[in-house]
Amino acid sequence: MSSCDLVDHAVTGVQGLRPYQPGKPISTLAREIGLAESAIIKLASNENPLGPSPKVNTAVAAALGEQARYPDGGTVALRERLAQHHDCKPEQITLGNGSNDVLDLIARVFLGEGRSALFSGHAFAVYPLVTQAVGAEAIVVPAEQWGHDLQAMAAAVREDTRVVWIANPNNPTGTWVGKAALYSFLQQVSAEVVVVVDEAYIEFVADADYPDSTQWLQQFPNLIVTRTFSKAYGLAGYRVGYSLSSERVADLLNRVRQPFNVNALAQLAAVTALDDQVHLQQGVELNRTEMEKMTHAFNHLGLEWIPSAGNFVSVDLGQPAMPIFAAMEQQGVITRPVANYGMPNHLRISIGLPSENDRCIQVLTQILRESS
Ligand SMILES: *Cc1c(COP(=O)(O)O)cnc(C)c1O
Repeated sequence: MSSCDLVDHAVTGVQGLRPYQPGKPISTLAREIGLAESAIIKLASNENPLGPSPKVNTAVAAALGEQARYPDGGTVALRERLAQHHDCKPEQITLGNGSNDVLDLIARVFLGEGRSALFSGHAFAVYPLVTQAVGAEAIVVPAEQWGHDLQAMAAAVREDTRVVWIANPNNPTGTWVGKAALYSFLQQVSAEVVVVVDEAYIEFVADADYPDSTQWLQQFPNLIVTRTFSKAYGLAGYRVGYSLSSERVADLLNRVRQPFNVNALAQLAAVTALDDQVHLQQGVELNRTEMEKMTHAFNHLGLEWIPSAGNFVSVDLGQPAMPIFAAMEQQGVITRPVANYGMPNHLRISIGLPSENDRCIQVLTQILRESS
């Protein structure tokens, strides 16, 4: 055997990368702790507890037998439907295998060695991942009260900065930036810097001061807004996300996009999901009432939590969260520790069905009592 370690020959950015850590699948935990899968509660990945619209299930079931052919590489039907939904041109839309795929396309088009990208402390883990993978330098701007400090971020933009990643709301903090602050940021930043506003949770936001950034696409050709079907639409397993941008930027992104990156069933699921806004609103409403219930329960336990505009909430356990997370997992409740986000005492909990949330609180209460 040769002593050559191929890690030394991976490109520089990749050598220092650690893979994204997804939540443990229900089936894996069920096997580990000897419970039925139906007894496991997963509140770890911000999925929609109601699942997709029933219309999606019907449409996909009917199309199952027809999948011998490649999907439409141009995703024409879905882009036209999205253009109608957003009142923009289909040419402004770039589809991805989840919006993470689009974030990756953006990094490959605008970043590389000798360039930097900027994001906030506690920001979504995919930004450092895609930045570093292409050899660009990551500039992390300290957060303010867990949220993005846009003024500090504007001041931190360097000569070589080509992308700014902004999650609005952010995961795992749930924090969001308001209209005036974001607009002022867009005005301050040079037109040569691409500003990505990741709106994965926009459907859940109720605050009147929250900006839908697509309104500024005309004015700022360097703005890219990303959206996803994974969260409020309940299609995380299908993998569909997209960006809205100027046509010019969309053309660049499409040059590096794999032609069949969104499979046929996923395209069908997404088109169908857009047509069921009633189902979407049911999920949003459920999230609102259950979020209130959960945060009340945290108050009752004397725990601080970060106000969240998403479908998850990060709660401060006042002690390292990892052992509590592990103990909850042993009881069949999967949540998400966020120490890798620089938040060792916080636990991120997705808002589930009423019975799931009740069980989560019950288990958390019991474990906290035992650990004190
Ligand atoms: C979940 C999430 C996404 C969505 O990722 P997909 O690849 O579309 O499933 C994007 N951004 C943030 C901040 C998220 O939390």
